[in-house]
Amino acid sequence: MNPVYLDYAATTPVDERVLQAMKPYFCERFGNASSLYSWGREARKAVAEAREKVAALLQASPSEVYFTSGGSESDNWAIKGAAFALRRAGRGKHIITSCVEHHAVLNACRWLEQEGFEVTYLPVDKNGRVLPEQVFDALRDDTVLVSIMTANNEVGTIEPIAEIGRRMQEQQIFFHTDAVQAAGHIPIAVDELHVDALSLSGHKLYGPKGVGALYLRRGSSLDSLVHGGPQEREMRAGTENTAGIVGLGQAAELAKQEMSDEWERLSDLRDMLIAAVRELGDSWINGDEKYRLPGHVSFGLRGISQDTLLIRLDMAGFAVSAGSACSAGALEPSHVLLAMGQTKEQASSAIRVTLGRFTSVEEVQRFIRKLSLLVGAIRGR
Ligand SMILES: *Cc1c(COP(=O)(O)O)cnc(C)c1O
Repeated sequence: MNPVYLDYAATTPVDERVLQAMKPYFCERFGNASSLYSWGREARKAVAEAREKVAALLQASPSEVYFTSGGSESDNWAIKGAAFALRRAGRGKHIITSCVEHHAVLNACRWLEQEGFEVTYLPVDKNGRVLPEQVFDALRDDTVLVSIMTANNEVGTIEPIAEIGRRMQEQQIFFHTDAVQAAGHIPIAVDELHVDALSLSGHKLYGPKGVGALYLRRGSSLDSLVHGGPQEREMRAGTENTAGIVGLGQAAELAKQEMSDEWERLSDLRDMLIAAVRELGDSWINGDEKYRLPGHVSFGLRGISQDTLLIRLDMAGFAVSAGSACSAGALEPSHVLLAMGQTKEQASSAIRVTLGRFTSVEEVQRFIRKLSLLVGAIRGR
């Protein structure tokens, strides 16, 4: 039996159509986008077209999209770049984020603390939602930046970004959102979310790894992290990763076209899986029932540790994860589940199953059957 990949939140395969779009840019159209002659023009045009496609996915303007090396760089750039630019402008040194952010955000904030910034890490409710009121209450006169993720990678909870953003815009506070798990999967319009900056990553939406983008609202100021040549409108130096950028553009275009059908299909599969987990008994679903990514299921089973179940599922050919890809291998309980108020024991039982474009009904049914057999065997029933 073929192995079944159910870890789309960790990474997605490159869509064949994305690969085809990228291919010419390795050997034939290999030019440097800064060169004057035809090879350069060709690369420049390809980058410009990709920028339009990414902008279209976010309902932004192409001039507000900057290409980066991925989600981690986009997060670091938005947070460090805004923090330094705004402190220099005399606006202050206080940053607000949440306890459930990806480590690309949390560790960028931790580093900024060493640089003299003060960071408030907001708690979440038991479903992993940040309460807008708590963001508003945490605001200080010297708050320069707020960063809250659009959707959580471990539990799939969608955060109230528009509600927070509206207030941040009124108060003119720079608002960043890590939309790496959301972009290409749920509709995103930067004006409706009222964000100043938004991060996304190629490999979470069927594009290649090592390429991402940062949306930055026109008129916002951000210090550069990568200094050098004048690429990306003098904001991010380095010869453009043309093939990767073309891949990201193609992936964004496909995601936009297929999003609503895919949303429906995956939500149905997800709900089927959630129902099956509930049926196992002594189980719980992590994350919000209503505000939840399509295709995202995180659950716990009383008395069964994630290691035990993951190993047995792996042996049976099913690739799922223990919360997040980044903490896999580390024995630390998930910072997200602890922030949601779970005990270490509950958190150490978390299994994340994430479905995507190439997941079939049959695969989900096979997974459900195997899970139920394994859980029965472990519990000795
Ligand atoms: C994967 C992920 C990142 C990091 O993106 P990379 O492209 O892998 O650097 C950041 N934030 C979230 C929410 C993610 O899921």
